[in-house]
Amino acid sequence: MSLGSARCSCGAEPVYLDRSSNIVYCKRCILRHVYRKAVRTMKNENMLSSGDTVLIGLSGGKDSVVLTDILGRLARKMRDLNLVAATVDEGISTGESSYREEALGYAREVAAKFNVPLHVYSYRELFGGTLDSYVRLRVQNGSACSVCGVFRRRALNEAARRLGANKIALGHNKDDEAQTVLMNVLRGDLERMLRTAEGTHELVRRIKPLRRLSEREVAIYAYLRGYGFQSVECPYSRDTVRDKVREVLFELEGHVSGSRDALLNFEDKLRDVARAGGLYAKCELCGEPTSSSRKLCKVCEYIQEFRRLSGLNPEPV
Ligand code: SF4
Ligand SMILES: [Zn+2]
Ligand SMILES: [Zn+2]
Repeated sequence: MSLGSARCSCGAEPVYLDRSSNIVYCKRCILRHVYRKAVRTMKNENMLSSGDTVLIGLSGGKDSVVLTDILGRLARKMRDLNLVAATVDEGISTGESSYREEALGYAREVAAKFNVPLHVYSYRELFGGTLDSYVRLRVQNGSACSVCGVFRRRALNEAARRLGANKIALGHNKDDEAQTVLMNVLRGDLERMLRTAEGTHELVRRIKPLRRLSEREVAIYAYLRGYGFQSVECPYSRDTVRDKVREVLFELEGHVSGSRDALLNFEDKLRDVARAGGLYAKCELCGEPTSSSRKLCKVCEYIQEFRRLSGLNPEPV
């Protein structure tokens, strides 16, 4: 990255160039900028209320580590904000060890630094099998990620219930969010878009404090704070559509500055519409919300299928 001869507005040596505004920042100022932007997003979108117990979805990847750091710092100032964290162990083997193992080390480190109690929940314990075992049995079309995503969502809801949290904080950044909006548009999947929009139908509200921070901003924050990065990739991660969408958005942002923010604004407006209308019904088996056109939620469908494929009798969960 070439920062030329420019100085940070405070006069110090710059370490970061914001491409959209062409502003350079020194270490101290970029850390403050990222922290303040996250806090402002939480404020603008009324993400926190006094007395909240927030469960942090702490995978141990850089986004969730930065999220824990920022909420941890905020909790030092906001005395009535309670934090707990959960790591979900999917049960994915990468040969010698579990895929989650390395990330769990980073999760433990940041949780300990801010005195946030960390709990680990596994798919095996919650749903009766590891993701690996399920993928081995599953003969139908559909990627591991779609099953994994559905299970993770439920695992975090269950964790929140067990730990008494009234909100779940996720580390999604602006790039992830803009990609998801565009992917849903490309699939023509309005229901999924509404489902993934923050807090539209979940029993426990989702908040995404980093959703207005770019991936670069989150990465520089993690790097300058000295957090480690996960080196092992999930063996199932082969999301070619997302990769393509990422490329397209990158290119688009170069021509139309602010296009990622515009996609997020679009999602926000849809969410408001969804909140006002009755787009959701209750799953007949577990009572969790599902789209009004379905009888069973996706988790119950998968578990029924899992039991059928394993030779067990399908039964309510
Ligand atoms: S890449 Fe897919 S399968 Fe792997 S952890 Fe992420 S969602 Fe799960
Ligand atoms: Zn500065
Ligand atoms: Zn269900």
